[in-house]
Amino acid sequence: MGGTFDPIHYGHLVTAEAARHLFKLDQVIFVPSGRPPHKLSHKLTPASERLLMTLLATAPNQNFIVSDWEVQREQISYTYDTVRAFHQKFGDSAELFFITGADAVLEIMQWRQIDELADFCSFIAATRPGYRLDDFQASPKLTAKLGFLEVPALAISSSDIRGRVARSEPIKYLLPETVEMYIYKHGLYQDLSG
Ligand code: ATP
Ligand code: MG
Repeated sequence: MGGTFDPIHYGHLVTAEAARHLFKLDQVIFVPSGRPPHKLSHKLTPASERLLMTLLATAPNQNFIVSDWEVQREQISYTYDTVRAFHQKFGDSAELFFITGADAVLEIMQWRQIDELADFCSFIAATRPGYRLDDFQASPKLTAKLGFLEVPALAISSSDIRGRVARSEPIKYLLPETVEMYIYKHGLYQDLSG
């Protein structure tokens, strides 16, 4: 499961756990992005802090692990490169799934080398409030590798959480308490300008 995780929240965690259960996955690997191609203009929290928050949030679940593969790379991270690297690491016997929310999967056709990506992994598209997948169209190759996942609707987003912190509004119960504490302790999201 890729994302900026700026910060990670219960929408991510519920989706990952539902995908693990329904698709009988051994593990969910959270891969915080280094420099995502679609968020070049947005001021991102340093990768090291997003990685730490992801570790804090996933620590209690023994089936969740975190990879620093993308944050260690200087280059822009494309999902294709990441999934190919994981495919090489785990070998042919491992079946890989890329977990996304409905908003991300709607953009899937614009992803670089999307059909080649489908050679290495299947896709899990999770429901997300505010995004409809009813009219979603993909190439036959992609459709064959796409599974849908209904998750309890959580209208939580990282951008909303960042806005709440900046406006001194509560974020409690939207994300794990350890991550909430980390945000306040390190003064993240106080100033959203720039
Ligand atoms: P931002 O508001 O900064 O874009 P975000 O909440 O969308 O943050 P991302 O890190 O962009 O979080 O998302 C990572 C992945 O998690 C994406 O595939 C996204 O669709 C999915 N996702 C995020 N929030 C939810 C949610 N509430 N329900 C289902 N999927 C979600
Ligand atoms: Mg997003």
